[in-house]
Amino acid sequence: MKPKGGASGSRRLLGRLRDVMAGGGTAEQRLDKVVKLIAMDMVAEVCSCYVMRAGEVLELFATEGLLQAAVHKTRLRVGEGLVGDIAAHARPLALADAQSHPLFAYRPETGEEVYRSLVGVPIIRSGRVIGVLVVQNKSLRNYTEEEVETLETVAMVLAELVASGDLVGQDELAPVDGNALLPLRLEGVRLNAGVGIGQAVLHEPRIVVRRLVAENAEAEMGRLREGLARLRRALDDLLDSQDLAFGGEHRDVLETYRMFADDAGWVARIGEAIRSGLTAEAAVQKVHEDTRVRMSQVTDPYLRERLHDLEDLANRLLNQLVGDDAGARPARAELPENAVLVCRSMGPTELLDYDRRRLRGLVMEEGSPTMHVAILARALDIPVVGRIKDALAKIDGGDPLIVDGDNAQVFVRPAEDIREMFAASLRARAERLAVFAMMRDLPAETREGEKIALMLNAGLQIDLPQLAATGADGIGLYRTEMPFMARPQLPDVAAQTQLYRRILDQAAGKPVMFRTLDVGSDKLLPYWESGDEDNPAMGWRSIRITLDRPAVLRHQLRALIAAAAGRELHVMFPMVAEVAEFESARKLLELELARVRSRDEPPPSRVRVGTMLEVPALAWQIDALLRRVDFISIGSNDLTQFMFAVDRGNPRISERYDVLSPAMLNFLRWIVGRCRAAGIPVSVCGEMAGRPIEALALLGLGVRTLSMSASSVGPVKAMVRSTKLPEIESFMAGLFDLPDHSIRERLRGFALDHGIAI
Ligand code: PEP
Ligand code: MG
Repeated sequence: MKPKGGASGSRRLLGRLRDVMAGGGTAEQRLDKVVKLIAMDMVAEVCSCYVMRAGEVLELFATEGLLQAAVHKTRLRVGEGLVGDIAAHARPLALADAQSHPLFAYRPETGEEVYRSLVGVPIIRSGRVIGVLVVQNKSLRNYTEEEVETLETVAMVLAELVASGDLVGQDELAPVDGNALLPLRLEGVRLNAGVGIGQAVLHEPRIVVRRLVAENAEAEMGRLREGLARLRRALDDLLDSQDLAFGGEHRDVLETYRMFADDAGWVARIGEAIRSGLTAEAAVQKVHEDTRVRMSQVTDPYLRERLHDLEDLANRLLNQLVGDDAGARPARAELPENAVLVCRSMGPTELLDYDRRRLRGLVMEEGSPTMHVAILARALDIPVVGRIKDALAKIDGGDPLIVDGDNAQVFVRPAEDIREMFAASLRARAERLAVFAMMRDLPAETREGEKIALMLNAGLQIDLPQLAATGADGIGLYRTEMPFMARPQLPDVAAQTQLYRRILDQAAGKPVMFRTLDVGSDKLLPYWESGDEDNPAMGWRSIRITLDRPAVLRHQLRALIAAAAGRELHVMFPMVAEVAEFESARKLLELELARVRSRDEPPPSRVRVGTMLEVPALAWQIDALLRRVDFISIGSNDLTQFMFAVDRGNPRISERYDVLSPAMLNFLRWIVGRCRAAGIPVSVCGEMAGRPIEALALLGLGVRTLSMSASSVGPVKAMVRSTKLPEIESFMAGLFDLPDHSIRERLRGFALDHGIAI
């Protein structure tokens, strides 16, 4: 007899299942009826349901066709046998000749030796496998794709029965951790710095879908269309909301994300699930579970992040579809005053659903620094630690937590002394911040009254409000690559122009040094093949890429020129190793300026062209360079890397040499001296400029412009205001010939003796 497949077959089966589920009897009795029904419908001799028990063991709970004595007796570990394999990989398996498969584990009590073919699917709930549904036949049967899909749809309905708590206790369904009540320290990856102390709130976006099987597929398609329309409107509202009105990188994120709501593939997959007999909400949930499972197998970080966005969207759509269903979504009103969210992962808009004033931190089982929710958390100043293995298993709702973003660790139920230590450091931080805030309007002047320019390093539009908040003099380094990295493709000239214009508008007349695209090495673009390089930091990166692909640089320069129409434009090129490279890049800029003039478009009022100095070779052509540039910015991060031949991204050696070594300081002194003699402004924009002791040394070398992250402006200003330049200059003069590894301790002693705030 030919098995019944296709959408209509699946619909019929679902209809019958619904009747069984709604009927009387215990959960086990219902499960028995269900396996019978499936076996009959799929023309199979066997249909069995395995349920996950504590300790990652799959237990046979019901079977049609295998020996009844095996029920509750046959048990397989996850990964053991074909059933265990389906659970381990959370994916279906269809085998015409199952017995010859190397993983086949024969269990005599089942009497299954006569069954040759097997198809099984995982039963999934909330992204976890909670059971396996298996069908077997005596003949060598090739199961069709439709049959596998039908079984998957059925498994979804069965998931409700398994998860109801009537078959096994809820506590068995939840993953357990033996040490649940002991204090734990968990290590992860730093996604945003800072410390937060609070109480765990398990982020549970899941909405309970009660109506699974549909009466009328057309009506459900209509509900889906309406739900999608409401979802799009809600996203538009979110985009327009007051909170996000100042624009910024996270606005770009949400806009990209909004496009997913129009993703034809996603909508089509939901449509297919509806045609197989599910309600609109059950269809969304099915596609959503499939996505979750796929996500756990995708390794490409970019793709994973996009899948997270889709998952977030699925949750919102579910909310639209069952939003009226009272109690379907957990209320967020009871969010404690000091909530630390714990989740597997989270979409960007889900974070915005919470009252940010009550959020103290975010802990995720997954995550990477470029994922959208991390970018948003940075904008909201919420510490985040990601890739905490089994966070949801180890942390219970209400557990006291400390999120230490600085050191990428999370303390669960910390002991009193640890809690007190972090609380004290938070208090000290708050006090320091209050002092720095008070200093905001005081000038960055040394004690004898010399003005030092303190500038900001920025890379996201949301950094711009920091100009006013810190009282900085401008943006000394604008890293333009961030928006290139956050998008699925190269932004075009119009998009770039708009972005750069917004930045200049927000800078309100303060100078912004735009650095052209500096990608490659650790900053990879998802849409560009990077190629395998043995030494990417010394590889095809930065200006080398943009000179090889001049159209990319020309488009960026075109956008910068257009954005700066009528205003001053500062442009600098990264990773320049020789004057000829600077000249090639500047020629492209001149071509773009000529283009604007020939088209009678308004040019910038003045264009200042500079370069980063971060490759030592360039310093040895400094005189030729100084005749051609308007300013120089020293990138001490890369410069140190190339001076000492030490990979800045390798924690094992990155701290081995000190920027305060006589070698580095001699080199810097020489560069700064030549710049000053030629009357060319020079600044330092690497990390060293933002650390008070290093910045003090830079003042001693003659540097008068420092560019740093916003959080460094207060501490560096405090140092500047307590320093006398002649004193530090004469102190440093005696240190350049020392054979020492570093002059750090001598500088620290000098600062303490002279009352300098470091
Ligand atoms: C530097 O190298 O010092 C620098 C500022 O550039 P980035 O850190 O972006 O490489
Ligand atoms: Mg650099």
